[in-house]
Amino acid sequence: MNRVLLLFESKRNSQLLVEWLSDQAQVVLVEGEQSLDEPFDLCIVDGRSLDRLQTLLQKRKESEQPVFLPILCVTPRQSLCSTTSDLAACVDEVIGSPVEKAELLMRVRVLLHTRQLSLQLNQRNQELTAFTYAVTHDLRSPLQVITSMAELLLEDQGNRLDDQGRLDLYQILLSADQMHELIAAFLSFSRLGREAIQIQKASLQPIVTACINSLEREIRARNATIRVEGELPVVWADPVLLKSVLINLLSNSLKYVASDVDPYIAISASHDNDRCCLRIQDNGVGIAIEDQSRIFSPFVRLKTIERPGIGLGLAIVRKSVELMSGRLGVEATLGVGSTFWIELKSPTPGE
Ligand code: ADP
Repeated sequence: MNRVLLLFESKRNSQLLVEWLSDQAQVVLVEGEQSLDEPFDLCIVDGRSLDRLQTLLQKRKESEQPVFLPILCVTPRQSLCSTTSDLAACVDEVIGSPVEKAELLMRVRVLLHTRQLSLQLNQRNQELTAFTYAVTHDLRSPLQVITSMAELLLEDQGNRLDDQGRLDLYQILLSADQMHELIAAFLSFSRLGREAIQIQKASLQPIVTACINSLEREIRARNATIRVEGELPVVWADPVLLKSVLINLLSNSLKYVASDVDPYIAISASHDNDRCCLRIQDNGVGIAIEDQSRIFSPFVRLKTIERPGIGLGLAIVRKSVELMSGRLGVEATLGVGSTFWIELKSPTPGE
């Protein structure tokens, strides 16, 4: 049964709510602050108790994330307009008193239903993640056996095989390598969001330089130029995630370029209040308008140009940027190039 917490200054009002709600939930009247740590599915609070307990409630709500923990505030009708905007951070629904029984019951039903859906969704997500993790782990060992046996066969019996036989064995090894790569990408995709992320002030300049340095071999092999235009600001980000985002985007910009063109990549940033937009512009093959949003979904690969890959890089980029509360997108023209952009929060002067 759902558990509803009542935080009311007035005993008369809380008694009334207990009567109204006891058919559909286990109602708990709270007087001290300690009971906020106990499990509950909905908290109904009046304006005065909310003033007193807002920080505690906010923390309790955050601790349940990503599951939705609803808070319904009952406050006098005449103060609805003045209080609503202040309460928005903590309260999901406001209802004016004196309260109509039918209205209150309907809102409670909707909030409890949403809470249950959110719990179920979270449970399914956890099962799915555990399943993905188990499957990818279990795939690794038979694959390792295939690789080792093919290597052994090549070493011991290689000179007894004809050219076609040796080519076939090389093909088995190549496919096993691709499978290893696919499993590794799959694991890092499913791991994203399960490990704690550390959002902090991160200076883009050294992060971008480190990414360029780690791609030095590819840059040299493709005779590419990467230019950082102007100063890069400080943003709120997890440096490890941000680095993986930038390496993914830069290596795509080096990869999806016609063979007879030297890659040219420009990195720049613009600033607007507390947001920073970082752009990575390339002179690659470009992306058709109808493909621009779908390339961020897992396993979408375009046929514009044949290049090795598995189609998880941009899905990892999108998930990472979302985990840092950012936004991202691409603007591109076929045959001209693409500009991938990432918008992240940047610290305001007092922060
Ligand atoms: P992968 O590179 O392994 O295929 P991604 O998820 O990184 O996977 O990219 C998905 C697809 O988006 C690529 O296969 C390619 O078709 C397209 N793409 C990504 N980056 C670019 C780019 N800079 N220019 C043109 N096409 C790109």
